[in-house]
Amino acid sequence: MIKKNIENLLKQIPETVELVGATKTRTSEEILEAIEGGLKIIGENYIQEAEKKFKIIGNKVKWHFIGHLQKNKVKKAAKIFDLIETIDSFEIAQIISEECFKIGKQMQILIEINSGKEIQKFGVFSSEIEDLIKKINMLKNIKIMGLMTMGTLEENSENLRLQFKETKELFEKSKKLNLENVEMKYLSMGMSNSYQIAIEEGANIIRIGTYIFGKRNTSL
Ligand SMILES: *Cc1c(COP(=O)(O)O)cnc(C)c1O
Repeated sequence: MIKKNIENLLKQIPETVELVGATKTRTSEEILEAIEGGLKIIGENYIQEAEKKFKIIGNKVKWHFIGHLQKNKVKKAAKIFDLIETIDSFEIAQIISEECFKIGKQMQILIEINSGKEIQKFGVFSSEIEDLIKKINMLKNIKIMGLMTMGTLEENSENLRLQFKETKELFEKSKKLNLENVEMKYLSMGMSNSYQIAIEEGANIIRIGTYIFGKRNTSL
């Protein structure tokens, strides 16, 4: 099933769009089946869970971190992940840069945008983005590769489309800053119930869990 789902999905999306399998709660066996179907990027939300799976699956795929990163987990995250999609403060970027300096790595990151403008959510507001990019640009062991947004998880797809549109505008604006450690290449938007809209609005990374692996048992 999983293998077939991946193959179906890859057929639907343009070649320019990269598929991240959102694999929280899924077993290594399930993930390996997805890899057989053509999945090349794993997206994990929790460091401990990712560590266990990384031991089994290793570097035959790329690893994206898509959860909220806590300071005390940065050291481990620096080792496992190729790209961290959810940076929303200078402070966390600075800690990542320090850890990456120690292991001789430059971490690729995306800045997470709170496009739904919800107070309780992670991510930065559009008014804060330019300052944050300019500050993070100073960190030698970080490379800003683009933007990511979740959007609101509501039913109203026109609201969501508007949030994706606004994030795409920020993406284009940020490109024009022309900074040394910034390469605005990736725009990560869209999940199982919204990836088509996201691609229409310019996403070139989509993060898909349920479509590939079925419903999750927990509410994680
Ligand atoms: C779980 C998760 C997804 C995938 O959600 P689905 O609805 O299962 O496709 C995408 N992005 C993030 C950040 C997630 O945590």
